[in-house]
Amino acid sequence: MTNNNIYFVANWKMNGHLSLIKRLKNVVILSNNKKYKKIKIIYCPPFTLISKLFDKIKKSKIIVGSQDCSYEDNYGPFTGDVSPKLIKEIGAKYVILGHSERRLKGDTNKIINRKIHAALKQKLKIILCIGETLNDRKKNKTFSVLKKQLLLCLKKINNIDNIIFAYEPIWSIGTGVIPLNNILEHDISKIIKFIKSKFKNQKPKIIYGGSVNPENIVKLKHIKNINGFLVGGASLYENKFVDIIKKTTI
Ligand code: PEP
Repeated sequence: MTNNNIYFVANWKMNGHLSLIKRLKNVVILSNNKKYKKIKIIYCPPFTLISKLFDKIKKSKIIVGSQDCSYEDNYGPFTGDVSPKLIKEIGAKYVILGHSERRLKGDTNKIINRKIHAALKQKLKIILCIGETLNDRKKNKTFSVLKKQLLLCLKKINNIDNIIFAYEPIWSIGTGVIPLNNILEHDISKIIKFIKSKFKNQKPKIIYGGSVNPENIVKLKHIKNINGFLVGGASLYENKFVDIIKKTTI
């Protein structure tokens, strides 16, 4: 882990209901505890739950994000879309973009790039997901795939201060299978080196996502240069999410 801020992103995907929001007492307490002041907790529920979540976490340091946004940044006749402006207005600060589950629904690198520009224009921060399939890895194409995703998604972006990179091997999302620490460390340093070569004098923030849980976090937290974790399934259970955060910091 780095000595800087440590990010824990809770991605609820298309899950969650009001009763889950009511059960966030311990995360709220943890976020306000000075002992965890380097911890940044970002909850990304479905759009429909964002305002209810705000009601519950008002007195906490928890940050709220959305799981996607439109590439139309403002208001307009785009039925079904949710623009970065609307997301910003409701008080959210982050948006996850490029998640493999959205890529499966048609988001190309080009579309993701448009979304990034739109979100940055509305001063949202971005969690940009990149990752390879198992097939890519077996064919030794991991790094070329990641490089392509980075290059195309970041086209005409000059500053990465407001972007957190989430490395999520697709074969690890929701499967319970995680890369070995030495492989992950190697891949993450390659990603960091590549981003640094494109964005001179800038320091990329990189988090890992893929089946993180209270058991494997004990190993994962030893990965150098990592700025935190994106947690899907386990973030739906408050006790597991709190456990992950606590175990990372002891
Ligand atoms: C994710 O939603 O990006 C994710 C990593 O999910 P999970 O933790 O369930 O693998």
